[in-house]
Amino acid sequence: MPPTENTSSAPGTTSTSGTPAIEFKDVEKRFGKTTVLKDLNFTVAPGERVTLIGPSGSGKTTILRLVMTLEELTGGFIFVDGKPLTHTEKNGKRVELPSKTTRAMTTRIGMVFQQFNLFPNMTVLENIIEAPVHVLGKPKAEAVKEAKSLLEKVGLGEKADEHPTRLSGGQQQRVAIARALAMSPEILLLDEVTSALDPELVGDVLGVLRDIAETTDITMLLVTHEMQFAREVSHRVMMFDGGQVLEEGPPDQIFNNPQHERTRTFLSSVQ
Ligand code: ADP
Repeated sequence: MPPTENTSSAPGTTSTSGTPAIEFKDVEKRFGKTTVLKDLNFTVAPGERVTLIGPSGSGKTTILRLVMTLEELTGGFIFVDGKPLTHTEKNGKRVELPSKTTRAMTTRIGMVFQQFNLFPNMTVLENIIEAPVHVLGKPKAEAVKEAKSLLEKVGLGEKADEHPTRLSGGQQQRVAIARALAMSPEILLLDEVTSALDPELVGDVLGVLRDIAETTDITMLLVTHEMQFAREVSHRVMMFDGGQVLEEGPPDQIFNNPQHERTRTFLSSVQ
């Protein structure tokens, strides 16, 4: 059977069709003397699901971490919903925004990591309600109710009172997804979320993500080596090489008819 392709059109893929959910403008990222990203420009439309692919070290994770403000932006600007995230321009000068402004923006963004990053000393339920209660100020009873419903959604309704260390990697990752969703994010960043899992546990996690893709309009920016999954859920795939977009397009185009030899070589190494 041929692989399923995502044929649905992206909900507005160019900057002309409204305010992008995410915009990178002349982004530069240096680690010390090493420049990882330079003059990077791209947009992601609201509700669009974009997968970043490319060789290891090409800057994909750095892009997600910049959106989550886990890395300092060393040049250029990132906009979320048209608003500057960390830096803005005043009188022709690039100035850093107050950390309070940036923090308020990041509450709309959720991220799931390769290594789950759950709080080991808290139960599953406590992990999920932590940010809604302490960051959003939600009443605890409401947060608990929502957390339980999210745990049902990710197939872990029975695990609310367990500690994460007693769960399998796949279960921990599904808790991490529920924890991100508990903040009702407008943007979800997924960084190789199945890479640390035993192969037999990958399917359940991808199933949960497919369900989110089908049932919500959350904007997603993801890095994955699961090419079949990328084909199914992405509206657009961006191939990175050396911190630059080498080519981009609908999954059908990138996977079946790549234009660049480097994309072909990369795809044959992972498929
Ligand atoms: P990818 O996700 O495509 O594998 P990364 O974004 O993780 O790439 O890394 C891009 C480059 O940035 C790599 O050369 C990596 O070594 C470097 N890098 C990432 N994080 C750091 C860091 N905290 N300090 C120094 N170099 C880093």
